[in-house]
Amino acid sequence: MLNAMMHTPLLVPAILEHAVRQYPEQEIVCYGGDTPYRYTYREFSERVLRLAGALQGLGVGKGDRVATLAWNTHEHLELYYAIAMVGGICHTINPRYSIEQMRYVVDHADSRVLFYDVSLLAVATEIRSGSPGIRVVVAIGGEAVEENGLAYEQLLASDEVLVEIPLLNEDDPCGLCYTSGTTGSPKGVCYTHRSTVLHAMSCLSREVLGLWSGDVVLAVVPMFHVNAWGFPYSALMAGASLVLPGADLSASTLYQIMEDESVGFSAGVPTIWQDLIEYLDRNKKTFSTVRKVLVGGAAAPAKMFEDFARHGASLIHGWGMTETTIGAVGNVPADLEYLPEEEKTRLKTKQGRAPFGFEMKIVDEHGQDCVQDGVVSGELLVRGPWVVANYLGAESEEALQDGWFATGDIATLDPRGYMEIVDRKKDVIKSGGEWISSIALENAVIKHPSVARAAVIGKPDHRWSERPLMIVVPADSCQPSVEELREFLMELFPRWWVPEDIVFDNQLPLGPTGKVLKTQLRDKYLH
Ligand code: AMP
Repeated sequence: MLNAMMHTPLLVPAILEHAVRQYPEQEIVCYGGDTPYRYTYREFSERVLRLAGALQGLGVGKGDRVATLAWNTHEHLELYYAIAMVGGICHTINPRYSIEQMRYVVDHADSRVLFYDVSLLAVATEIRSGSPGIRVVVAIGGEAVEENGLAYEQLLASDEVLVEIPLLNEDDPCGLCYTSGTTGSPKGVCYTHRSTVLHAMSCLSREVLGLWSGDVVLAVVPMFHVNAWGFPYSALMAGASLVLPGADLSASTLYQIMEDESVGFSAGVPTIWQDLIEYLDRNKKTFSTVRKVLVGGAAAPAKMFEDFARHGASLIHGWGMTETTIGAVGNVPADLEYLPEEEKTRLKTKQGRAPFGFEMKIVDEHGQDCVQDGVVSGELLVRGPWVVANYLGAESEEALQDGWFATGDIATLDPRGYMEIVDRKKDVIKSGGEWISSIALENAVIKHPSVARAAVIGKPDHRWSERPLMIVVPADSCQPSVEELREFLMELFPRWWVPEDIVFDNQLPLGPTGKVLKTQLRDKYLH
């Protein structure tokens, strides 16, 4: 039978074409240089086309991996689009990985070309010396230093023109990001043109992020971490003004950018927002224009929602993984507006509901579906068009269980579809045969005015198999006592949840994507 409707492919270059056609004068602004680099979508597109020509000149074609070691900059954004346009795969490398991990991912991905920000020259040189597969290195933001090295602007100034855009299929890969790899080697997740476009379309919906051309978006979440949660695509698809902060993500710099650019919407991990709130309070400042802030990558405590509200902004909880990009968002829909404020706030602090196309369920240890009553917890399984089916190089759909991806997160689901993360499977504490949620304890204790940050790990125990051990970073010039904190927690939890052991430290170790490294805490406190 003839197709009833057309089947036009969903392609990343089409996002750019659309953006330029509909919003040619909309701005992209990049911080990090002496002065902000500011240009229109039209000018951006011209540079992308020239870069695409240059990439073809370097021999990059369909399926070729191009590695990037770069911050949130306009050049990195140009690479995202130009690499996709010539059919290549933009392999973003997290510069906070160890050198061994970076060499591993470059070799595993078989990336032949490496673009690096000049501020990361030392790292790029180390990668290169251990990864002979890299044939071409290109310096972004400065001169080429290496022998035979190229400079980004030189490459753009050459006369290479795009010979022809290869015929692209919507299932062709266009992006590649490795998971943090806290256990074993990092695993590569390849995003396709189709998954990228559908995810971006989902972000535009009002029930998800509601991006539109009136937004000024500051993308703080790094472009080397899950494609900055898709903002390089969704912002342009929406025609929003996109502000890129460069390498400096300190609270004072971010605040200044927000004020100078009249930013209305931003996105980042909890540690970044915790620093920003502390900065605002310490310096008696507040937001002039920021109204919506997305937080994800790790659980945001309830207190953070109150803190943002105090400063006139609404914090939105999002959940996702390298394997999924944004999967759930904690908005309160119109049909629940009638709920009392307190209940709505409680819903917002959950990790959220699935947008159309994305499905979630929880299962017990035998793989049986759990009830969705908001109380019973189980492993979270997800599926949808922007969920990984296969890790790069894996033979079969080994990542999947009966067509679902097992996230390794333990969660509850309530009858309205709100998902709440209880713990990572490997972090949950089993005490006397029952589970204790480390996240719940952490989020509760930081409500105490003398506590700035906290992490909870399981400590082996003869009698109970495990007991929680809490590590607390006190707030500025505070000296809370163990008893005081225990009493505070006793009010909130059953007695057996409350840790006997609370230790104080002046910081928590953070991993390459801003999450607390519980493995390091275990090494430090349990051995
Ligand atoms: P990554 O692939 O590095 O982005 O890590 C994904 C993991 O981060 C998830 O499986 C969760 O364990 C955690 N995560 C992401 N977002 C949240 C959130 N909003 N609350 C709690 N954990 C989260």
